[in-house]
Amino acid sequence: MEVALSIAADRPSMRMGTEYMLAENEMPKAWCNFLPDLPAPLPEIRDLGTPSAAEIAEKVRPKILIEQNQPDELWIDIPDPVADRLRQCGRPTPLRRALHLERQLDTPARIYFKREDCMTTGSFKLNTALAQAYYAAQEGRSLLVTETGAGQWGMSVALAATMFGLRSRVFMVRCSLDQKPYRGYFMELLGSEVHPSPSARTRIGSEVIRAHPDHPGSLGAAISEAIEDAACTPGAAYLSGSGMPHVYLHQTILGLEVKRQLAKAGEELGVDERGDHLIACAGGGSNLCGLVGPFLKDRRDGADIRLLAAESTAAPRLTAGVYQYGRSDIAEFTPEVLAYSMGKDFVPPAVHVGGLRNHHSSPIVSLLRREGILDARAFAQREALAAGRLLLETEGVLVAPEAAHAVAAAVEVALEARAASRDCVIVFLASGNGQLDLAGYHEVLGRTCT
Ligand SMILES: *Cc1c(COP(=O)(O)O)cnc(C)c1O
Repeated sequence: MEVALSIAADRPSMRMGTEYMLAENEMPKAWCNFLPDLPAPLPEIRDLGTPSAAEIAEKVRPKILIEQNQPDELWIDIPDPVADRLRQCGRPTPLRRALHLERQLDTPARIYFKREDCMTTGSFKLNTALAQAYYAAQEGRSLLVTETGAGQWGMSVALAATMFGLRSRVFMVRCSLDQKPYRGYFMELLGSEVHPSPSARTRIGSEVIRAHPDHPGSLGAAISEAIEDAACTPGAAYLSGSGMPHVYLHQTILGLEVKRQLAKAGEELGVDERGDHLIACAGGGSNLCGLVGPFLKDRRDGADIRLLAAESTAAPRLTAGVYQYGRSDIAEFTPEVLAYSMGKDFVPPAVHVGGLRNHHSSPIVSLLRREGILDARAFAQREALAAGRLLLETEGVLVAPEAAHAVAAAVEVALEARAASRDCVIVFLASGNGQLDLAGYHEVLGRTCT
């Protein structure tokens, strides 16, 4: 990294390049607590079960992660061992100016994308997995237990566990494991125990199987299984890959790096009311909040930065859901939170975007939406994957189906900028790599002649 930079300094022409890098020592040293920059207080949580969700969390979650849901400070130092591992796994990641995509769309907009597809496990999830594994190890836990949908989170936990000397156990939604067995192989290669969920291993899993022997699995069931299993296993910690404020905190490294990289590119977001956009796909909201969180203060200070969530028409909570109390798991181990929701009995169609199929959004993302800070657009799978193919054709980067939704949103905004002759800046987040999702691309697009 240092070498590459000194070459760039020697050769002025390289400044015309399209990839904006940060040196290792330019990686952010602290996470940004953006909760004080939210437009309104977060609504009350309802937690009336026995035992309560808070009591369950106290048992299964590392204590510091519970504290990091409501930090006292604005900046929280990234522990050195976590920073070292983040660097090893691909941080800081590049920010690419998508010149070829711009040319193809014939847009005056300047499009940039943040390349989390470059992380070792193929997605941004490692940013929080490494932090959480480190804290669990610090507390003397020996086993990490979690659930995973499409498998990116499970892969990240498996690697982070190994790096900090821990074992891991992952409940993976059964139909996703069938669709994406390679993610399971990766976890098992690292010695992780992978259980297709629902499984007979837990009480809640057994109940689901008894009622529906062919159940394809759901995130709501897998979360319940993982929490039950962690609660019953001495030395276990339960970790979440999204939805929780401490996860968003760890992901702010994304937005903080983007800020530095935009400065290197000579861009200042939110000037001249030209309609600058930050865009990310939204499942549990962690890549979105990681990107936009550090910009909320600028927005409060008057910068005209539009925030846009790209969701799937398979679970269009932010564009068509109801703002209501609900939970993320079926056994009611988690508390009731106010958020945009499809309702607890909603069964999403079996689309390939495992990461965007949650029935209930998160309280923080929902609050941003409710208060009019966050726009949202929903995209059908075919439209999103076609945008993913366009990015591959123009920029040579194959993104995950989830991230393809962000590409689709960026393309729409860029075409609107063309229609209005606006030279705005568009930044979207490529949340993950699509190499292991090619079966999905093939099924939806590969057999057509378009
Ligand atoms: C998990 C995941 C998502 C969705 O999760 P968020 O919490 O909404 O960010 C999106 N893209 C990829 C590649 C993922 O792994």
